Amino acid sequence: MTIIRNFVRINFITNPPKQAVSTLLIARRTYSKNGTFDYDLAVIGGGSGGLACAKEAVNNGAKVAVLDYVTPSPQGSKWGLGGTCVNVGCIPKKLMHQAALLGEAIHEATSYGWEIPAVDKVKINWSTLTESVQNHIKSVNWVTRVDLRDKKIDYINGLGEFKDPHTIVATLKNGSTKELTAKNVVIAVGGRPHYPDIPGAVEYCISSDDIFSLSHPPGKTLVVGAGYIGLECAGFLNSLGYPVTVLVRSVPLRGFDQQMARMVTNEMEQKGVHFEYKCVPLSVEKLESGQLKARWFNNETQKQHEDVFDTVLMATGRYALTKQLRLDLAGVSCLSESGKLVAATEQSNVPHVYAVGDVLEGRPELTPVAIHAGRLLARRMFAGGQQQMDYDNVATTVFTPLEYGCVGLSEETAVQRFGTENIEVYHAYYKPTEFFIPQRNIRNCYLKAVALRDAPQRILGLHFVGPVAGEVIQGFAAAIKCGITMEQLSNTVGIHPTVAEEFTRLNITKRSGKDPNPASCCS
Ligand code: FAD
Ligand code: NAP
Repeated sequence: MTIIRNFVRINFITNPPKQAVSTLLIARRTYSKNGTFDYDLAVIGGGSGGLACAKEAVNNGAKVAVLDYVTPSPQGSKWGLGGTCVNVGCIPKKLMHQAALLGEAIHEATSYGWEIPAVDKVKINWSTLTESVQNHIKSVNWVTRVDLRDKKIDYINGLGEFKDPHTIVATLKNGSTKELTAKNVVIAVGGRPHYPDIPGAVEYCISSDDIFSLSHPPGKTLVVGAGYIGLECAGFLNSLGYPVTVLVRSVPLRGFDQQMARMVTNEMEQKGVHFEYKCVPLSVEKLESGQLKARWFNNETQKQHEDVFDTVLMATGRYALTKQLRLDLAGVSCLSESGKLVAATEQSNVPHVYAVGDVLEGRPELTPVAIHAGRLLARRMFAGGQQQMDYDNVATTVFTPLEYGCVGLSEETAVQRFGTENIEVYHAYYKPTEFFIPQRNIRNCYLKAVALRDAPQRILGLHFVGPVAGEVIQGFAAAIKCGITMEQLSNTVGIHPTVAEEFTRLNITKRSGKDPNPASCCS
């Protein structure tokens, strides 16, 4: 069968750096019944999972195209190549968290002898902050594009949808369309913020898609939702000096160990964040002043409340971007109720169509998860790999003012699975050395190990609230993967003085009822 081949010039559209390669040749042809395709692999979505999969596929000899396109948020925010993590997720979030920690450190520095003139007048310059953050993001966008070019991955800045099981149509920014065929397709489209169905939500509220590039200081802010994103945003905004109220529908950090979640929110409350529990939003109205009047309902007291804010940030979860893909034309039908793809081994019901990352049902929505799954999938597709992604015991950290890092089971889940009698929980409050000067609040510096009760007491979960929790938990996550027991943990010699060593000092069980408070720094 004849192969029809057209070469189409596609201009790079998003933020073209001056010296960038401004054009790209894309081979276009219809695929034949004898199995000839433009590409071995087309990846729809150039975020954490899609890019990792594409790069690994190319390393293993595949010819690859990546489609990436960002539909602007309702408030008009848009960004470049790289997906959520780089542009509107982990990276800008961590930088703003760092800005918040530095603000606190400036005040603490005076206790160590730093002479800071008018320290009480120190305040954040929001536009400098957002400019620095956005400049960093643009540099990552640029490096990502150069990397794709160097690896000879064809990048198409277009919104992809299926025309048939092997043909993808990309709609470019100018409305024109390009077609390409691929032997295999990986869906890595991630998700976008969900807005509650209430008056004014889409019109007047922002989301995590907008906060990191907001053109004006957010001022007094209402955060709706108390998951990762709600608490992280509330935490850094409050520490940057903006008054924050958080609406909590059920409990903060639902699904996490609830004792630890309470430590996190206690600390935030002590730092000035106001929480409205058991509340759902009703409406957001724009006032003549430009401010926003938000109304909400307390499900417990059955009372309605309202207040006026400068900014309302919706952090009520994320939905997968599967609707626009025309999966029906590819025959892909394994969608969950929430529109995510159900694919246990990343393979859909159509054998050559796969999915990785946030778009997958029941998988942790985390960048390293998307990356790892994407790499392993590419190795299985193109290098005879056999290894499947292990989604168990994935460590994570919530970057709230006092961070919460954990790996494995929460105490609730462990008890539910094994029964109270079969679980031993070791716990301790601790005092980080860096909290001695100045005397900082240590009431919420707490950690615990959830283990099986019978010897050798295999550890099922580790939980840590305190400074640099992510750094603390990362190494212990490897130990959990190796099946570490309480005895092995206690026989690990700590590094002093660190906060991570507190895990090696755990010796009080909850069952014993002994006081878990610290005696001294070196006991
Ligand atoms: P994404 O990174 O979302 O990439 C998908 C890409 O596909 C996007 O660029 C999208 O625009 C594009 N796309 C969608 N549809 C199409 C289409 N039809 N055609 C072409 N392109 C399309 N994770 C962590 O591990 N640590 C953190 O600290 C962390 N913080 C976060 C903070 C925030 C505020 C948010 C929102 C998320 C955070 N995450 C964090 C989660 C992390 O960002 C995601 O898990 C990760 O980005 C998922 O990668 P992905 O490849 O599945 O999707
Ligand atoms: P989330 O963790 O699912 O939290 C959503 C929150 O919004 C919950 O508190 C939920 O309350 C609330 N909510 C949902 N609908 C609501 C409604 N209609 N009215 C009021 N409240 C409502 O989602 P997320 O915070 O958007 O985070 C999404 C994912 O991104 C996370 O699962 C995580 O994997 C990833 N992420 C990771 C990090 C990190 O690694 N540090 C940081 C940010 C995001 P209920 O509990 O009552 O449902």
